[in-house]
Amino acid sequence: MPTTASKTRTFDVEQVRRDFPALHQDVYDDTPLVYLDNAATSQKPQVVIDRLSTYYEQENSNVHRGVHRLSQNATDAYEDAREAIRDYINAPTDEQVIFTRGTTESINLVANTFGKRLKAGDEVVITEMEHHANIVPWQMLRNDIGIELRVVPISDEGVLNLDALRNALTEKTKLVSVVHISNALGTINPVKEIVDLAHERDIPVLVDGAQSVPHGPVDVQDIGADFFCFSGHKMCGPTGIGVLYGRHDMLTSLPPYHGGGDMIDEVSFEKTTYADLPHKLEAGTPNIADAIGLASAARYISDLDTDGMTRHEHDLLDYATEQVSMIPGLSIVGTAPEKASVVSMAFDDLHPYDVGTILDRLGVAVRTGHHCTQPLMKRLGLPGTLRASFAFYNTRDDVDALAEALDTAATMLR
Ligand code: PLP
Repeated sequence: MPTTASKTRTFDVEQVRRDFPALHQDVYDDTPLVYLDNAATSQKPQVVIDRLSTYYEQENSNVHRGVHRLSQNATDAYEDAREAIRDYINAPTDEQVIFTRGTTESINLVANTFGKRLKAGDEVVITEMEHHANIVPWQMLRNDIGIELRVVPISDEGVLNLDALRNALTEKTKLVSVVHISNALGTINPVKEIVDLAHERDIPVLVDGAQSVPHGPVDVQDIGADFFCFSGHKMCGPTGIGVLYGRHDMLTSLPPYHGGGDMIDEVSFEKTTYADLPHKLEAGTPNIADAIGLASAARYISDLDTDGMTRHEHDLLDYATEQVSMIPGLSIVGTAPEKASVVSMAFDDLHPYDVGTILDRLGVAVRTGHHCTQPLMKRLGLPGTLRASFAFYNTRDDVDALAEALDTAATMLR
């Protein structure tokens, strides 16, 4: 993580909350919204909303093609956005930042380019705590070309078994693809260690960073990952935009994913040559406005005092853990020592969906269900969980509202 010496704002949650209009609304008449579904998607600060409006009001144009002024402005803003993202993740060059629709598309891009070069019997190693986005693309490859999937187990607490991961790496392993922070449990995986383990055997690593980038800038060079994927909408940016970062030589060696405009150098009916990075991997008109909006979100988070924000999120996690642990019949699912501000919960005798529905009527927005991690739920023997996921703009009052609502729901349902 970068140092905070140059941060312009000392972290002040009340000040930060004022930047997020959606947090200040009532749901169901006079019930104030308590938004605790941040792992699904975050709310957006006014600067991001304004940036999108400004783009459409003043700059809207297609990029990379027009000689006219607006097109030049849009191209500059789009390429500036790439630079802002490069900075946020500390990628060595802009070319290594590929805009996609999100984490799902980024992983599919790798599966359909890097993955398409694998052979029957080659192995991809994933873990029991992966999101479906990091399972299904590899299974599709298994169906297409006969690769094998090896799944590294986790403990009941939700900690990855590193010995098992080490043992899973063989000469057949062609990729380790692992989640940085589990969306369902909050577990923070030791991705640097995992990268080191894999690199000792010359195995590349893809890190699914969907849940890590919302907690502040990350350093892909420090992590050492060969690929790093994330979505804009979970880090205060718009939906429909995300990023694939890749090691330069790795991205250069990939064939194109989609074919069309913008990704070519020259086209004839006989033969097409491709553009250089990053355009080779961005066919067609890109999502210009949302890339620019995402850059605005990255700048917004970068301007916060990262240490203060991290301390605040840890405080929320500790306080929420303490408060909900006092509720009879409720247990916390996922108790890894290294955890992000996600509290997944299960009642002994109540279905998460029933509890979640009552919470909603009380204004508390949480997620219920399998969180796109059905194999993980099966491993834990649960139909699903109730998940409260905290962003840096949540407060201890939000935690109190959650605990109170859980109590009320349990009383009503028993
Ligand atoms: N990976 C993780 C860990 C996630 O939490 C999510 C979304 O919840 C995804 C991947 C998929 O992200 P998206 O739906 O934005 O592509």
